[in-house]
Amino acid sequence: MKLLVPVKRVVDYNVKVRVKADQTGVETANVKMSMNPFDEIAVEEAVRLKEKGTVTEIVAVSIGPTAAQEQIRTALAMGADRGILIEVDGIVEPLAVAKLLKAVVEKETPGLVILGKQAIDDDMNATGQMLAALLGWGQGTFASKLELTADSATVTREVDGGLETVTLKLPAIVTTDLRLNEPRYASLPNIMKARKKPIETMKPADLGVDAAPRLTTLKVEEPPKRIAGKKVGSVAELVDKLRNEAKVI
Ligand code: AMP
Repeated sequence: MKLLVPVKRVVDYNVKVRVKADQTGVETANVKMSMNPFDEIAVEEAVRLKEKGTVTEIVAVSIGPTAAQEQIRTALAMGADRGILIEVDGIVEPLAVAKLLKAVVEKETPGLVILGKQAIDDDMNATGQMLAALLGWGQGTFASKLELTADSATVTREVDGGLETVTLKLPAIVTTDLRLNEPRYASLPNIMKARKKPIETMKPADLGVDAAPRLTTLKVEEPPKRIAGKKVGSVAELVDKLRNEAKVI
């Protein structure tokens, strides 16, 4: 079975994000960029399934600038077999990403697409669901466990207050949650090998998709600074402050 894993280039999760001076977005110039952490989990899961023998080929796809090749190379170094880069500069909204991925799915006919549950830059948590809707496929989102057979996927989902298990008929969409696995670090020999793996490059027009944004960002602002807390000496003092200063009780 072939597996498709979309990987997004995002600001590294260790970086303290700064808003651009003109408030149009966040600063990405000279900022460390990495693969979205949930997508690393998706690649790891795909590689484990390949190691088990259920999966025969893993294709990593990224939609973004030319530099997103770096994130595809990371996926290749972790164990993906080949990459597809759809070159787009600027913001690509989940609906456009989902339409582009649908076009790739139609070309590649994978048995399963594993995405991250959300991209840590836009926090949309939408692309996997939109892709499932566009394709008319079943979806198992927020997966903390995945079992694959030749024609079905059983997904344990992290839901409020517990776990839900669903079985999906393949082909299907799965999105990863944090507890699914712990991604491996690529070894140096694998990083070297990944340099030789192929990456195909295309543009949205090659897939007949209009990737232009539909939303306009009016303004991006830093969250308000948190004011310092106060230590209280007793429960009575706490109640007094809540009643007379904060006026919340
Ligand atoms: P989002 O809906 O934006 O929170 O993203 C959810 C998931 O969709 C991510 O974890 C990726 O797996 C995938 N995705 C979103 N945007 C892109 C992109 N530009 N390139 C590749 N995959 C993406």
